[in-house]
Amino acid sequence: MEIDKLENWRRTHYSDQIDLETLEGKEIIVCGWIKQTRDLGGLKFAILRDNFGEVQITFPKAKLDEKLFDKANSLRNEMPVAIKGIVKIDKRSPTGFELIPTDLKLLNNVTANLPLDPTYKVKADLDTRLDNRILDLRSTQAHATFIIRHKVTTAIRQFFVNRRFIEINTPRIIATATEGGTELFPIAYFEKEAFLAQSPQLYKEQLTTVFDKVYEIAPIFRAEEHSTTRHLNELMMVDIEMAFCNYNDVMNVLENLIHYVISDVKNNCDKELNILKSDLQIPKLPFKRYTYTETLELLAKNGYELSWGDDIGTDASRKLGSIISGPYFITEWPSEGKPFYIQSRADKPEISESFDLMYGWIELASGGTRVHEKEILIQRLINQGLTPSSFDFHLKVFDWGMPPHAGWGLGLARLVMVLTGKQNIREVVVFPRDRTRLTP
Ligand code: ATP
Ligand code: MG
Repeated sequence: MEIDKLENWRRTHYSDQIDLETLEGKEIIVCGWIKQTRDLGGLKFAILRDNFGEVQITFPKAKLDEKLFDKANSLRNEMPVAIKGIVKIDKRSPTGFELIPTDLKLLNNVTANLPLDPTYKVKADLDTRLDNRILDLRSTQAHATFIIRHKVTTAIRQFFVNRRFIEINTPRIIATATEGGTELFPIAYFEKEAFLAQSPQLYKEQLTTVFDKVYEIAPIFRAEEHSTTRHLNELMMVDIEMAFCNYNDVMNVLENLIHYVISDVKNNCDKELNILKSDLQIPKLPFKRYTYTETLELLAKNGYELSWGDDIGTDASRKLGSIISGPYFITEWPSEGKPFYIQSRADKPEISESFDLMYGWIELASGGTRVHEKEILIQRLINQGLTPSSFDFHLKVFDWGMPPHAGWGLGLARLVMVLTGKQNIREVVVFPRDRTRLTP
């Protein structure tokens, strides 16, 4: 097959911009990929897919130049093409119109055997889909998932901009572990020891002393060995930190953000939610808040016993998810087990000013009031077996006017998972990184 040059051809319309009232009978140019073809002898059909929908292309032998009609024989699934043609209303087409070509450019070839069928008519398992992710993303379902993810990130930014937060970018290459070293990926950094960031925690706290309210949307890296349906080794975190407030204030921000994002997706992603057969509900504000102690009582009432101080593990979380649906907070966790920078309650030091945001059984976010007094922070570091001197770069900022502050970190993929109803986090990350997957 001869490959055509693009030359001066440019798309005039995306598939969802073809307004039949003004364009019927007019010539337009569409660009995209061939989704499928059908050959009825004297009549050939092709479906062209672009990022916003599909266009039916009809090739009637009787009406077309012979060379153009023959050229349609070379169309293959997933081939990139540009088609010049006349818009014609036709009720039989799934979109209510068809394009009758006047010219056609085949812009690249496609090997005969695709490893995956993006129409999902031939089903593929998740590994095969991830191995051939680019083809998989062209499926209506995977595509819809990532359009929703795009909407989620856009809405998150809008929310923070509306509330006068400042977007920050903290380093991904760091010298000290935020919370001890077990989950860190070491890297070769010239003659020094360095790691990939597992959290922007310390930097975002420092930046509240300048910008008051900050947020960051960035990748973090965790060397967690286990393989689950909700953990990856590289993930996007949405982090905030706010000066002059405590854990209750940042919980308010978090529930308002979740409400804003879900409303935005619900109102603007009808098509995608339908494709995913999602019955997403906009949650009511405020979200339910259970203290850790109340959560244990709730579990006990439902036949799941934990002792005060125990972590609420996967099984217990699943139990909770069967009792409570949608988003809710678990607040005031035991101080022991919380990172060194989490503030304890003044009246009951065994309880911390912390929270997790849950959605059913899945943890979406963790946060709390931070320690802002240097001496207490140093004591906490020592108690947790960490070396204060390796945190000098951080501790010195506490001498320069550190305000009381609080914040949280939200796993972006976990949020997209619950919004799209996906059961595996790998479904909502374009190129996931887990214990065994490093390509593509
Ligand atoms: P979990 O208990 O679910 O492993 P965590 O408490 O260790 O999470 P945090 O340090 O609280 O995680 O991180 C904040 C948020 O980041 C979590 O609530 C979660 O949404 C997300 N997150 C953390 N680790 C991962 C991971 N390995 N993969 C995907 N998301 C993660
Ligand atoms: Mg957590």
